[in-house]
Amino acid sequence: MKTIKLSILFVVISFFVSCKTSQKSTSHKERTSTSQQVEHHKKHWSYVGENDPNHWSNISEEYKACSGKKQSPIDIEDAVVVTKKQPNVLKVNFGNTKTDIINNGHTIEFKIDKGNYLTFNGKKYELKQFHMHSLSEHSLNHKHFPLEIHFVSKADDGTYAVIAVFFKEGKASPFFSKFLDKLPAKEGEIFKSNTSFDLKDVLADTKHFYHYNGSFTTPPCTEIVEWILLKEPKTASKEQLDKLHNLLKDNYRPVQKLNGRVEDVQ
Ligand SMILES: [Zn+2]
Repeated sequence: MKTIKLSILFVVISFFVSCKTSQKSTSHKERTSTSQQVEHHKKHWSYVGENDPNHWSNISEEYKACSGKKQSPIDIEDAVVVTKKQPNVLKVNFGNTKTDIINNGHTIEFKIDKGNYLTFNGKKYELKQFHMHSLSEHSLNHKHFPLEIHFVSKADDGTYAVIAVFFKEGKASPFFSKFLDKLPAKEGEIFKSNTSFDLKDVLADTKHFYHYNGSFTTPPCTEIVEWILLKEPKTASKEQLDKLHNLLKDNYRPVQKLNGRVEDVQ
């Protein structure tokens, strides 16, 4: 009897330990296949059901920031956005890259070659990946776009700058014409592409953007993100946007409270 109790205790402890370390532990990742890793991770948070965005902060101690005061996404209301006297300086150095496209169960992510980076007010951030949300996570005057792409860049000090690009219905996107049929539909699948493409095909004009301080829009919701939302949307055809929405299935977090934060624009 004692042995059985001890065994159960061991299993329970192992479960908690492995859950908490699944994102950080390299050795754990090395032992687990991609699909198992994704499946294991997915149990913890989702966009619908009992682990939906309203419950993220209660799922794990590591997700406590999800109920913080500087959360993302937010609604951008043109009427309350300010223009800074000292404008932000954004320089984007994105060029050609190859990519592995990964369906991680929450989004479809494009891994990026080293050497693509941006500077924001003089600080350098290296582009790591971009991924998609449908509908858009940020809204503009309470309206969502059908699609939002996040270019995730990381600085040496561990903070992030994320450029968000909105997509509206219009002319077909040459980028999606190239990749739409290749996107992995099943969780855990990876498409390895040897075709090089120009990141600028997915990026919009970077001159005009909204900016505010926020967080990751997925757990652990860490509040270490400079958000740069490009004003000019890109276009994709209705057919392309419908296909993407079918794949992504409403993977957007509802907008969060501003709590006194100021959004600026240029
Ligand atoms: Zn995102």
